[in-house]
Amino acid sequence: KKEQLQLLAEVEPVTRDGEQLMLAANISSLKELETAMKHGAQGVGLFRTEFLFMDRSEFPSEEEQFDVYRRIAERASGHPVVIRTLDIGGDKPLDYLALPEEDNPFLGYRAIRISLDHHDLFLTQLRAILRASAFGDVRVMYPMISSVDEVHQAKKLLLKAMRQLDDRGEAYRSDLPVGIMIEVPAAAAIADLLAEEVDFFSIGTNDLVQYVLAVDRMNEQIAHMYHPYHPAVLRMLRMTANAAHDRGIEVSVCGELAGDERAIPLWLELGVGKLSMSPQSLLRVKHRVLNTTASLARETGKDCFRLSRSGDIERLLSEFVAPVV
Ligand code: PEP
Ligand code: MG
Repeated sequence: KKEQLQLLAEVEPVTRDGEQLMLAANISSLKELETAMKHGAQGVGLFRTEFLFMDRSEFPSEEEQFDVYRRIAERASGHPVVIRTLDIGGDKPLDYLALPEEDNPFLGYRAIRISLDHHDLFLTQLRAILRASAFGDVRVMYPMISSVDEVHQAKKLLLKAMRQLDDRGEAYRSDLPVGIMIEVPAAAAIADLLAEEVDFFSIGTNDLVQYVLAVDRMNEQIAHMYHPYHPAVLRMLRMTANAAHDRGIEVSVCGELAGDERAIPLWLELGVGKLSMSPQSLLRVKHRVLNTTASLARETGKDCFRLSRSGDIERLLSEFVAPVV
């Protein structure tokens, strides 16, 4: 089975009736990119940079970051590489950055909130990302965005990083695409406003599910309530996809749900054409895409939006299994 799946690495992810999807990888290291490329990834939909910052005693320098980002851009051989800025805080602490103890870390000082508060740290990372953009199709993405103001602040700092590189005479792509994670309910609710500000959305279902349902993704006691197929989650997905389409910007998914092949009818119905997932999921999802008839799957996707209970939606999607070719 594994060997058979491996044969699909070079095959394009197209449905039986000719609809093209794009399958990219979530990675946190160059090593993971190797696995992803072996499994036929069409680029990197999410590079989690925090792993460059963890398990060490000080911040990685601009050169150190640039070196990793550049190598990833080059190894992706022309495919897009989405580099997400630092997503620490909450459950991912750094030994060398003193953060306050918090009662609700997931509702606390995290991700873009920290970056916008530590300009040197953020500018250093932005410069490294910008410099890497001279070596491939690099894009930048901000985590945990919950307001238009945050996007404005991040944009200002990106411009500042560009000016700093200009002063040094360094090369970078001045039209570097800028995107945001949609993983906080507020962002989904104002997706139309945010779509005016950025070049792409990537839906982070891991956090979106926890925040929409008020179910801590780390708490085992309520794990049975963590339901990606909850109608409230589906509505958030739809709001986000519609806003992106109305404004003509790209929308993709990079949470774990992208790696669940049962969700394919939802993506087809919503017009989400790019899925980014762990390298281990790529061939399994591609196999399902190849065995899916988009027109039929879309009907099932539509039906999901008419159901009122998570269990019914999950059952419907689980039963929609295309014949094996
Ligand atoms: C997400 O929240 O869905 C996501 C992809 O980001 P992370 O899992 O790194 O929080
Ligand atoms: Mg997240």
